[in-house]
Amino acid sequence: MGETFKCGVVGYARNITYIRLEPNKDKGPFWHQMLPWIKGNHFVWDLTHKDVKANLIIQELPLMSSMLQKRNVKVWVRGVTPDLARLLSKQKTSLPNVSCLDVEAPYYCSLCSSLHALTLNLCPTKYRELSSGKGYPEAPPCPVCKTSMRFNDIPQQFFSFLNLTHAPNNNFLDPSLVNRAFNDAELSRAGSSSHLDKKLWWSGNNQEHRGDVDANDKLITVSIETGIAMALIVTTLALLGAMLARLI
Ligand SMILES: [Zn+2]
Repeated sequence: MGETFKCGVVGYARNITYIRLEPNKDKGPFWHQMLPWIKGNHFVWDLTHKDVKANLIIQELPLMSSMLQKRNVKVWVRGVTPDLARLLSKQKTSLPNVSCLDVEAPYYCSLCSSLHALTLNLCPTKYRELSSGKGYPEAPPCPVCKTSMRFNDIPQQFFSFLNLTHAPNNNFLDPSLVNRAFNDAELSRAGSSSHLDKKLWWSGNNQEHRGDVDANDKLITVSIETGIAMALIVTTLALLGAMLARLI
């Protein structure tokens, strides 16, 4: 039976623990709150809540991954947002104990001038293709006006984060078990059914997931990314300065 805890909901199915974060109750960090709930060999970490911040997950994912690896628990992430995918792609540290179940692929409709993040479910074949720079999904029609959209990024760059993760061969998680664990988690919330519509998530690719993304969100993302890049440049310069000082 699933449970509601401080920063999300947790559910179980056979050897899977499913946690969906709900940071509206807590802004994080989350790792120490999630750890006690994790049982079995597979941990599905659902990041689909709109308040899950990519810059926090980028810090917690390597931490969770290495701690759980020691306990022989494999990490599977769901709902990797465009922000998180872009931040991950810039990382150099690999995540050998992490695989992705699905990604929110960013599309842009030029007629509506709107961004749409659509869920792209992964399977071993798709994983391999996208990691090796091919098999990019065809742009689906705009959910609002039905005209064809375009991928709102450079696909090769966007999906390159998959290279940091572990590409599962034939040992992909059984979708029906993931759904069972998901339902267990969602049904644990008393009297709430607001998230139950997501139980159909595995029924096909490119389903609309989160609807419109406000243009302001994109601006904020760009400014956050610029901020991070600036911080990296400043750190690199400081390191170079320190090295030069030692040489002189
Ligand atoms: Zn449109």
